[in-house]
Amino acid sequence: MKQKLAFADDHFHDECGVFGVFGHPEAANLTYLGLYALQHRGQESAGIVSSDGTELHLHRAMGDVEEIFQPPVLAKLPGSLAIGHTRYSTAGDKALLNAQPIMIDCNKGKVALGHNGNLTNAAEWRRKLEHRGSIFQTNSDTEVIVHLLARSQARNLSGALGDALNQVEGAYSLLVLTPDELYAVRDPRGFRPLVLGKLPAPANSGFAEAWLVASETCAFDLLNAQYVREIEPGEMVRISKSGLESIHFAPEKPHQQCIFEHVYFARPDSIIFGRSVSDSREALGRALAREHPVEADLVVPVPDSGVPAAVGYSLESGIPFRMGLIRNHYIGRTFIEPSQAIRNFGVKLKLNPVRGLIEGKRVILVDDSIVRGTTSRKIVRMVQEAGAKEVHVRISCPPTISPCYYGVDTPTREELIASASSPEEICKYLGANSLGYVSLQALRRAVQDTQGTFCTSCYTGSYPTDLVQLEVREGASGKSMIDSSDNLSDISPTEKPVAVERES
Ligand code: SF4
Repeated sequence: MKQKLAFADDHFHDECGVFGVFGHPEAANLTYLGLYALQHRGQESAGIVSSDGTELHLHRAMGDVEEIFQPPVLAKLPGSLAIGHTRYSTAGDKALLNAQPIMIDCNKGKVALGHNGNLTNAAEWRRKLEHRGSIFQTNSDTEVIVHLLARSQARNLSGALGDALNQVEGAYSLLVLTPDELYAVRDPRGFRPLVLGKLPAPANSGFAEAWLVASETCAFDLLNAQYVREIEPGEMVRISKSGLESIHFAPEKPHQQCIFEHVYFARPDSIIFGRSVSDSREALGRALAREHPVEADLVVPVPDSGVPAAVGYSLESGIPFRMGLIRNHYIGRTFIEPSQAIRNFGVKLKLNPVRGLIEGKRVILVDDSIVRGTTSRKIVRMVQEAGAKEVHVRISCPPTISPCYYGVDTPTREELIASASSPEEICKYLGANSLGYVSLQALRRAVQDTQGTFCTSCYTGSYPTDLVQLEVREGASGKSMIDSSDNLSDISPTEKPVAVERES
């Protein structure tokens, strides 16, 4: 594995990416390419499970998709079905044992699972299941689904999966593979994206067409695949040789799609939750220009994620857009917790100002978020040291005041600078001439949230799931974790799917 350099990256961290193929003889190769396009969603580990129609074949390792899946490895993943996963841990240790997909051979047969999201009641289920004799192989929340699945009395896998998922709470966009079926499932609130696509199947492959499932549509673009639609919140799509079957496995709940996917996580060339991410980010930049105008000479993005919003700010304000900061793309994201000395070094490893553009100018610096404020402060100083006359910071989301419990790696509330400091205090800390955040109303408008179907908990501190029985404690890692009271319901009886439809 290549040696990675550590640097400070003061952002919420992406969660995970999933990709699946049904009905293509190059299933593992396509999954590799799909994961490659989704690499931004997780860089700690990756895995692929393929099916040759009888057996499941697994390869998982720590590192980047490109490093792990060399041609000899892919050659050992035969068959026309596959699922893949790229991981950034939000629950469980950063270790190979927690890499996904998870593969099991249980009373429901051979099954593999890949999960993007975070279960908010996993801790109490784990304790309860262990009390009843279950032996866990990992410490990730996803394994709870596996144990609940195996305990279900349902006769088929879709019923057992519905049983298991009706007992967990939180966020899951889930792919499940058996030797001859692929399931794509989204939690009833739809926190994380999951999209369906298709490709023509090669002649003589035995399949009419190849179905694809991905966290984001950018994975389809790489394969020249056609985007078909989103997997709906609360929907389980079962793909088999008989075609697609849509199962609504849970009672409807108000939708809570993660608004931060549009602000930062998703790639701007993706369409998620029915909306172009690039369009949302440009609209956010335009809103910022209207809400926080300032006289200046240049609009400069903090690359890469600040670029679309900076373009929007420039178009709306008429102030020229310039790439006044250059990002070194050969520095990977890191999961090493760096020492303070390396952190300081790290911002310069990642970004460098273009002095000739910045010197003597009044600069509007556009970024997508401020988490702890440490990196933003260094970037402001870097632009000042490059000769900027003024630095006005503009942020394309509201102040981030609360952690996320739905599949995003966030610092504790105490570490979030906006949880205890006003924008004026933060501006002073950054050393900027002014600071402006886009409003929550403008953010909702930018993602076209006319029905209130987006989660905004990290900006409001108000959570859409019942956290009454939960208490937040500090884990050994220092990250916020959810612990539970003992007020647990028993393992519930089988809940049947509430609606089933077929698609051609
Ligand atoms: Fe997304 Fe924030 Fe909600 Fe988490 S709390 S799902 S990051 S909007």
